[in-house]
Parts: sequence; C-alpha cells; structure tokens
Amino acid sequence: MVQPIYAKMAVVGCGLIGSSVVRAAREAGAAGHIAIAETSEAARARIAELKLADSLFADAAEAVADADLVVFAVPVMSMDAAARAAAPGLKPGVTVSDVGSVKGHVADVLGAAMPEGVHVIPGHPIAGTEQSGPDAGFAELFQNRWTILTPDAREDVPYREAVQRLADFWTAIGARVEEMDARHHDLVLAITSHLPHLIAYNIVGTAADLEGVTESEVMKYSAGGFRDFTRIAASDPTMWRDVFLTNKDAVLEVLGRFTEDLQALSRAIRWGEGDKLFELFSRTREIRRGIVAMGQESAEPNFGRDRGKH
Ligand code: NAP
Repeated sequence: MVQPIYAKMAVVGCGLIGSSVVRAAREAGAAGHIAIAETSEAARARIAELKLADSLFADAAEAVADADLVVFAVPVMSMDAAARAAAPGLKPGVTVSDVGSVKGHVADVLGAAMPEGVHVIPGHPIAGTEQSGPDAGFAELFQNRWTILTPDAREDVPYREAVQRLADFWTAIGARVEEMDARHHDLVLAITSHLPHLIAYNIVGTAADLEGVTESEVMKYSAGGFRDFTRIAASDPTMWRDVFLTNKDAVLEVLGRFTEDLQALSRAIRWGEGDKLFELFSRTREIRRGIVAMGQESAEPNFGRDRGKH
C-alpha cells in the first residue's frame, strides 16, 4: 500500500470542487483520514449518505484538528469566515490551501486569518463544471488539468518543502501543477475565465430581454453558438458574484480592452471590411486548434463535455 502524502486532510466546504478533491484523494490514496466541514445541514446529510468523509463536522475548527493539509473549498467571499472559524483548531506546521478562483484576495484573507507557523499556499484548479454541491463532484475532474499554486516569495526550506508536497498531492490526483504570482494569476484568469463568464451572463440576459424574440424561440433555436453560452451562464451565481467583486481591477482592465476590440469589430461590419473579419476569425480558429492540440479541450462533438460526468 502506497503511503498517503498527507496522513490527515480536512476539506472545508464540500461542494463541486471540495467533493471532487475528496473523491480524487481517496481514489489515489493521497490522503489517509479525510475530514469534512460543512456549514449547511442539508449538504452534511448528503455528504453522509454519499459516505465521502471519514469524519464530518459543522465546526471547521473540529474538522481541521490534527490535519496536515487543510483545503478551503468555499466561495471566495466566504474564505475569510471559513478561515477564521478553522484557525483555532490548526496544528503548527500544517499546510493551508484553497481552491478559490481568485488568488490575490484569498492570499490576503488567509494570510490575515492564519496563526504563526502555518504554511499558507493558495491554489486554484483550472477545472470545473456549471454544477454545484456534493453530488456534482467526481474523482476525474482534475485529470490532465492545470492547478496553479500561488505561494509567497518565501524561500526558507520548510515552506518550499510544503509547496513541493502540495504540488505532489495535486499531481497524485491527476493535475499538472504550475506556480504563479497571485496577482498575475488574477490577470490571466480574468481574460481566460472571468470575462468569458461575464460575456455569457450578458448575452443570455440580452437574448432573454430582446423584444420581438420569445423565450420559446431562444430555447428552440439555441443549438447555434448560443447553447454553449447558456451552459456557462448556468454557473453558480454566488461563486461568480464573488469572483467579479474580488477580482474587480483585473476584470475591469480586460473588459476595457475587450470593449475597444468589440467597437473595432462593429466598425468593420458597418464599413464592410470583410478582410478584417476574415483575418480575425482565421487567427482565433488557430488558437482553438492550439488548445485542442495541448490536450486542454476536446475536438469531440459537444466539446466532449459529456465525458467524465456521472
Ligand atoms: P459549491 O458547489 O457551491 O460548494 C461550496 C460549498 O461550501 C457549499 O456546500 C457551501 O454550503 C459551503 N460553504 C460555504 N461557506 C462555508 C463555510 N464558511 N464553511 C463550510 N462550508 C461552507 O461551490 P464550488 O463550485 O465547489 O466552488 C468552491 C470554490 O471553488 C470557490 O471558491 C470557487 O471559486 C472555486 N472553483 C470553482 C470552480 C467551478 O467550476 N465551480 C472551478 C475552480 C474553482 P452552502 O451551500 O450552505 O453555502
């Protein structure tokens, strides 16, 4: 039997991502004992039915007692409350991480809430679906997906060993791991994830509001490009509200660029500048092919989204 990377892991918040970490760690044998803390009584009942936890608590401080790794998997604006609730139970030398979609804000709140002698190493698996809750998670979610760790600039040996061990954990559950500065992460994700979600929320909202197009027509003819926007726009409202409010500067910066480029496209359409449109559409097609070639997306029909779901 392979030695687990952490003898005890505690996961605080066991929705889509938290329960996927739990399932993947169990399957890979990457954690010995798995404790879960969940504030929601209904979610706790479901976690018990699914037999996800070795021990299950409402109180985060109880769940993290004696843990070697603590992973906060709650919405970004709940990280502060969850971290403060857990802090009194942490043992010295524990690694504290998270899976939040925004890193600068989380690094600040975890750094402020944690006692001395704890290794804070924020993280973000670039993997997910539009579903929420403990039933939505699955062990394969992180396979071949990137997990970005945003450690401090500290170079002392115990901290760097803790970073390496956390990277080994993510590798064991199928992810590829990269380190990045937290603020740089937030700028990269603003363009690759946050802006696309904002566009999806906006286009679905606009379509639903359009006078002269009934909702049934929007549903009926959604097989065009619109359908994939509706999937993205079905993502968890709490999670995404928190992402936009905590990554405001980076999102506003890329939104400014996007708006300028959109204006240039309107102009090209208005003046019949087909060459400009053709050149852009050819360039973006190559980008899509590059993403498929890097194994970060599937060329299958429906973008392979039906794979790996239960
Ligand atoms: P989710 O399915 O809604 O799960 C979050 C869970 O945390 C819920 O069960 C929630 O309970 C619980 N919770 C909230 N506050 C808590 C607290 N103080 N203590 C203990 N539990 C608490 O959300 P998710 O999609 O897994 O997202 C979790 C984190 O992962 C977020 O930070 C998000 O940014 C990040 N992330 C998400 C994705 C994605 O695609 N969804 C991808 C990568 C990263 P209640 O329902 O009762 O509030």
